[in-house]
Amino acid sequence: MADAYKLDCESEAVDCRFIIQSEDETEAIELARTHMREDHGHDYSDDELREKHLQVV
Ligand SMILES: [Zn+2]
Repeated sequence: MADAYKLDCESEAVDCRFIIQSEDETEAIELARTHMREDHGHDYSDDELREKHLQVV
């Protein structure tokens, strides 16, 4: 089974239930970056998202 990239925003913002899961890392990062910017006002780089926020499941 392929790896999937997951962002569980609850670990980031306790009251946020946003979850991304995708087998496409590029897509997961893109979605995560947009969500973080639009909903939380944080601008993360791709590297930050990849290293600190996305989990491989
Ligand atoms: Zn969120």
